[in-house]
Amino acid sequence: LPRVLSGIQPTADSFHLGNYLGALRQWVALQQDHEAFYCVVDLHAITVDWDPETLRRRTLVSAAQLLALGVDPARSTLFVQSHVPEHVQLSWVMESLARFGEASRMTQFKDKSQREGAAGTSVALFTYPVLQAADILLYQADRVPVGEDQRQHLELTRDLATRFNNRFGTSFRLPEAHIVQGTAKILDLQSPDKKMSKSLPPAGCIDLLDDPKVTGKKIRSAVTDTGREVVADPEGKPGVTNLLTIHSALSGRSVGDLEEHFAGRGYGDLKKELAEVVGDFVTPVRGRTQELLDDPAELQRTLAQGAARAREVAGRTVADVYDKVGFLPPT
Ligand code: ATP
Ligand code: MG
Repeated sequence: LPRVLSGIQPTADSFHLGNYLGALRQWVALQQDHEAFYCVVDLHAITVDWDPETLRRRTLVSAAQLLALGVDPARSTLFVQSHVPEHVQLSWVMESLARFGEASRMTQFKDKSQREGAAGTSVALFTYPVLQAADILLYQADRVPVGEDQRQHLELTRDLATRFNNRFGTSFRLPEAHIVQGTAKILDLQSPDKKMSKSLPPAGCIDLLDDPKVTGKKIRSAVTDTGREVVADPEGKPGVTNLLTIHSALSGRSVGDLEEHFAGRGYGDLKKELAEVVGDFVTPVRGRTQELLDDPAELQRTLAQGAARAREVAGRTVADVYDKVGFLPPT
């Protein structure tokens, strides 16, 4: 079977619709015909400011949400990144291959470091894409389901893998980004020039664990565009187009179909109906997540089993790499 790997950061109390439509929905689909490795990437989460107790809680809530969304531990290896020390072990070698210049070109670093300010930007935020490369290469992943914002990091991963293979002999399979058309960049409801993010102000972000009342309010106050026709136009009407994209992805109706459906009606009707569509989707996810969190010991057992399986695969890659780069074996 082809392999798939992806990760998500426990940087908020809830995942949002961008995470789901851009990535997590594909995680669930791909586990059917791939050997899947999915992780909560807590090491990545400390590249920006964090609180230890909050991080621990969010890591467990993240795992519960993944299961609630349909990641099946019988099919997929689900684990927490810090439980598998091989991620850091491979990352160091990748850092030695990565060039300062290429890491400096990563646009996510530029965006996030601007937000954190020069004094608040950690060195780890800078090397984050290199750790991400290690995450992927450890498992010899063929496909990596991610949102559009990760395309550049996947290119870096392929560059580093190629560089290693050429210099030391082939150790890594070259992974491909699995980015779906249409939902790869869900926009913030308040700032439709930016992607929806866990780390932006919550008003524009539809959280999966929000009370449906809160969700409705956020959708009703979404920034829409001038004019009144409900039509998709990414350039001229990014806000309305984003709402149509979300509706279409969750209801399964095409955008063209929805344009017809809303012909002669206004933005208010679109928002009202979208609030219902989103409410119907998030309500059971919220319920299942809560049920899973009622038994944290069981959840942790699932994660421990996942980590053990992940280490078998990751350990083989690290052993091969450490040998090839010339580290003296410990025995
Ligand atoms: P943060 O702001 O902390 O970086 P995030 O919302 O960007 O959080 P990540 O954990 O970094 O979430 O990313 C998890 C996955 O969700 C990645 O595959 C990413 O590409 C995808 N993703 C994130 N935001 C969106 C979005 N707005 N639209 C589509 N996919 C997204
Ligand atoms: Mg992100």
